[in-house]
Amino acid sequence: MPQPGVLVVEDEDALATLLTWNLEKEGYAVRLAVDGEEALMMVDEQLPDLVLLDWMLPKVAGIEVCRRLRARPDARNIPIIMMTARSEESDRIRGLDTGADDYVTKPFSTTELMARVRAVLRRIRPALAEDTLNYGDIELDKVAHRVRRGGREIHLGPTEYRLLDHLMQFPGRVFSREQLLDAVWGSDVYVEARTVDVHIGRLRKAINADGDVDLIRTVRSAGYALDQRG
Ligand code: CA
Repeated sequence: MPQPGVLVVEDEDALATLLTWNLEKEGYAVRLAVDGEEALMMVDEQLPDLVLLDWMLPKVAGIEVCRRLRARPDARNIPIIMMTARSEESDRIRGLDTGADDYVTKPFSTTELMARVRAVLRRIRPALAEDTLNYGDIELDKVAHRVRRGGREIHLGPTEYRLLDHLMQFPGRVFSREQLLDAVWGSDVYVEARTVDVHIGRLRKAINADGDVDLIRTVRSAGYALDQRG
C-alpha cells in the first residue's frame, strides 16, 4: 500500500478538479468517477481506502452507491464521506443511516474536507493517516512533503520521496524490486527493475549525505529494506 487511494465520485467538473488537486497534493492516489455507475465499476477494479461521494449523481445516486458498497463484504469497511448540498439537509441524516462515516455540506472549504479525510482514515486505518512517519533519525512529513534526518532537511526527487515513504511505512520488511515498482511507480507502468536500483542509489546518497549510518539494507537477490542493521 503506497499511498492511501481515494475514489472521488463527483459529476461537477470544477469541484472534481479541485478535490483531485488537493488530495494529490496531500499524497493520496486519486481516482475520479463522474457518476454512480462508474464509481461502482471502479470499486470492482480496485478497492479504494476511502470514498468521497457526492449525493446528487447521474445514473446511480450517491446514497445508492453507499448502500451497495455497504452490502458488499469486500467494501463494507471502506470509509465513505458524503458531500451534500445545503438543500439536501434532511437527506444527509439518511446518508449517515445508510452507512456513510461522515458528511460535508457544500460549499465546504477544502482545508476542512482534507482534515475530515485524515480524521476518518485515522479512525479506521491508523497507519494510513499518520501525518509524519519516523524511523531512526529520519522524519517524513507527509503533509509538508518534507524529509529531515537528525533535524537536517533532505531534498528528494518525487520518486525517491515515494520510495522512502513506502519503506518507512513498513520498516524492516524486505521488498523485491517488483514490489517496489508496483508500490511506487504503479502496476500499470512499465519500468525496468533496474530502475529501482538507480532510485535507491539516489535515495541513499541523499539521506546519507552527512556520512550517516546507511539505513537502507540491500538484501542480495531479494530486494531492499529500511533497517537499522543496514
Ligand atoms: Ca452532483
